[in-house]
Amino acid sequence: MEAIVDKLGRPIRDLRISVTDRCNFRCTYCMPKEIFGDDYAFMPKDELLSFTEIERMARIFASLGVKKLRITGGEPLLRQHLPELISRLHDIPGIEDIGLTTNGLLLKRHGEALYEAGLRRLNISLDALDPELFGEINGRGIKPDLILSNIDLAKDIGFTIKVNMVVEKGVNEAEIIPMASYFKERGITLRFIEFMDVGNDNGWCFDKVVTKKEIYNKLTEHFTLNPVDPDYFGEVAKRYQYTDNGAEVGFITSVSESFCSSCTRARLSSDGKLYTCLFANSGFDLRQLLRSGLSDDEIRDKIIQIWKNREDRYSDERTEQTAKRKKINMSYIGG
Ligand code: SAM
Ligand code: SF4
Ligand code: SF4
Repeated sequence: MEAIVDKLGRPIRDLRISVTDRCNFRCTYCMPKEIFGDDYAFMPKDELLSFTEIERMARIFASLGVKKLRITGGEPLLRQHLPELISRLHDIPGIEDIGLTTNGLLLKRHGEALYEAGLRRLNISLDALDPELFGEINGRGIKPDLILSNIDLAKDIGFTIKVNMVVEKGVNEAEIIPMASYFKERGITLRFIEFMDVGNDNGWCFDKVVTKKEIYNKLTEHFTLNPVDPDYFGEVAKRYQYTDNGAEVGFITSVSESFCSSCTRARLSSDGKLYTCLFANSGFDLRQLLRSGLSDDEIRDKIIQIWKNREDRYSDERTEQTAKRKKINMSYIGG
């Protein structure tokens, strides 16, 4: 198969599929409740891609070189019958890996079925161990104990788990060491994510970013860390290992050390738009092609054309000015 590369020589390897724009949390950095209130107009059901449409898209992407799928949202566990989708995606030739990113709240209900459907990897988001603070960040007063017990449960089921923590200055820096200690002891990889200017609603500015360097310096006051080599080209997280017990910790340095030059990710929103960058302001309507009776080959050609013209490198060029550009919300495009 001829490798398709974009204008900066990047192949297409990963597809992030958002299965819903809805969420049961209102994280301040993603869907602040002041904006995503009771009257917020989420997508009507018939606008969502059906499982058959998602599977068809995933097959076409796999034929273009996509090897990894990530299911995300909004909160993906709110999508009904999700295990059925997982097992359909699992059977696609060429797909080597499927992961799911979730806030973890509904794992007790759906964990077993997802595992049985073939899912093995979960990224679970948790930003604090302090109950008050976590309740404020998630905007719904949900306590961390619920998520922590679901993490234990998912581990018992057999999932490989990584925990994602978004660090925001003046909000949860004091949680860095407690979170690191907690997950180190349990041998679960914690990844610190720099606060990003996704969408236009989260009040982002450079001053609110806690950089990898700052977090790393804090960690090394308490622990000794060794760098770990990347597992593959384009691995997003910079990984380290605690020297005493071998547990890992990672950093997603989207702001302080951008990684656009190796970005091989495409994103499919829940209504079937293709985005070639997390910070895009518009996408390409693949659903319309699907529903207008085009063949797989015709849709494939369209995607090839879009990918070949791709020149996104938003994070490499980020300034306080670019942050003000109109961008798609992360809950819609999928993290
Ligand atoms: N609802 C699921 C969850 O929270 O895991 C999946 C979707 S969420 C948009 C995916 C990831 O994006 C989460 O780990 C979340 O913490 C992260 N995220 C959302 N907004 C962010 C921001 N402004 N900066 C950095 N990470 C963000
Ligand atoms: Fe929901 Fe995830 Fe966004 Fe939080 S980060 S509001 S859990 S989609
Ligand atoms: Fe990829 Fe866009 Fe993020 Fe750069 S800014 S790493 S191109 S998604």
